[in-house]
Amino acid sequence: MAKILMIEDEDQIREEVMDWLMFEGYEVVGAANGRLGLEAAEREYPDLIISDINMPEMDGYNVLLEVRSNPVLSHIPFIFLTAHDTHDAYRAGMEMGADDYLTKPFTHTEVLSAIRARLQKQSQQKEYVNQQLDTLDKVLEEERAKRLVKSRLVAMFSHDFRNPLAVILSSATLMQKYEDRMDSDQRQNKLSRIVSSVEQLMQMLDDMLVVAEMESGRFEANPENLDLTAQVENIVDEFRAIKGETCQIRFESSVQKRVKLDPKLLRQMTANLISNAIKYSPDGGEVKVKIAGGEGEIVLLVQDNGIGIPDEAMSSLFTPFFRATNAKNLQGTGLGLAIVKEAVDLCGGEIDVTSQVGQGSQFRVRLPSP
Ligand code: ADP
Repeated sequence: MAKILMIEDEDQIREEVMDWLMFEGYEVVGAANGRLGLEAAEREYPDLIISDINMPEMDGYNVLLEVRSNPVLSHIPFIFLTAHDTHDAYRAGMEMGADDYLTKPFTHTEVLSAIRARLQKQSQQKEYVNQQLDTLDKVLEEERAKRLVKSRLVAMFSHDFRNPLAVILSSATLMQKYEDRMDSDQRQNKLSRIVSSVEQLMQMLDDMLVVAEMESGRFEANPENLDLTAQVENIVDEFRAIKGETCQIRFESSVQKRVKLDPKLLRQMTANLISNAIKYSPDGGEVKVKIAGGEGEIVLLVQDNGIGIPDEAMSSLFTPFFRATNAKNLQGTGLGLAIVKEAVDLCGGEIDVTSQVGQGSQFRVRLPSP
């Protein structure tokens, strides 16, 4: 319950009002003059102050001035009690920042309703300020997250790029120096390491460019009338051409109609999901890509029978740079799914995942299609 400070030099009035308030359940502090009242305000930090005007040592106007000039107390609602029933006294009090004014003799009901009205207004203001603070917090949190992504991107440039570059340099130098001493297997091994490091660098560069674009707000949806089935099949064919030997990619679509979608965003979602499905599957694994049309939506499914995702990783999958523990020995930037999520959001869609460790994963994207 609210704490109320009652400053009044007439003992009888002070005690009577304090009794009324106590019976209403308020916590009440009394002070017999302005100086004691100000000390009590600084000590007790009340939710509301009721003060007489004419008092020895310090009058009510001076208490109000001190309260309003103290940043810790300045917001406290302040009600004057006075015997002056003149317009001038009323105006003087209100202009100095009093919130209300009660003229003696006042009734029990007048005092209580003035207090309730002030406390209610105060709590509405508090709520409004809290809402503003929450909004500010959210904006700051987003800014912080963006800054974190940026500094991770810089770290990736300066640190993560070094590893594949070092592999390329050492493999190429070895071949340059000792090519004549190497048998064909050793040469192939060095060349494969160079190719895979270059692929890794290209993937990092691609992901970084997309994330930088996302961060700068330049990533946006420009929908076109697409032959969805043909577009996705093209992407699947590109993967078959590169990864066909290690993985079977099945494609199925029941969507015939043209669909309004941004082709670039569709590519980001589909290619990243298929690339993950292949990467996190064993050699000889099978990846299924399926498109289906539902009520006002189209659904894209990418399913694999790979390593699966541990339960504790599920909630962080779409956070930039996150990688699950069971994925750490496979190359990756941790940016692919963040890009997928951003692309899905920009299309007004939703994405969900079901997965079981050692069994495989299924990513389902639902996109609105009126
Ligand atoms: P990356 O694959 O480069 O690590 P992503 O953002 O694409 O980054 O994926 C984040 C993490 O989600 C991966 O590191 C991996 O732990 C998990 N993940 C994503 N797709 C799959 C999948 N198909 N199977 C198993 N784990 C996956």
